[in-house]
Amino acid sequence: MADGLFTWPADQPRLIGSRCRTCGVVTFPAQGSCPRCTSVDVEERLLGRTGTLYTWTVQGFRPKPPYAGPEDFEPYGVGYVELPGEVRVEARLTVADPDRLRIGLPVELVIVPYGDKVTYAFAPRDGSGADRRTR
Ligand SMILES: [Zn+2]
Repeated sequence: MADGLFTWPADQPRLIGSRCRTCGVVTFPAQGSCPRCTSVDVEERLLGRTGTLYTWTVQGFRPKPPYAGPEDFEPYGVGYVELPGEVRVEARLTVADPDRLRIGLPVELVIVPYGDKVTYAFAPRDGSGADRRTR
């Protein structure tokens, strides 16, 4: 994963996005210019840690290179998380069980192992036994 996507190490990790000072649009990952009004007057913005699941799917097979990832591939959830008042973020989910995923599910940002690195993901906030690996 590229550096600069999230604050780490951190007790309360945050995604690092950007906000346009001209029109207020928020982007993730951070961009040097605004995708809406093309202003380059953008500032770094630490995004909210909680949101709701906007849409999701389960990646049930190993992606083709160069996205193959670690050798020990396991199915994983992936979705778009709506951060209220900010932006929709595409992210891995900590659960891959369709019975535990639904649109509107409250989720929060966590940092999870990814191969020999870490990456960001979203975990359910409903206490349904999310396999939180960091806390
Ligand atoms: Zn703008």
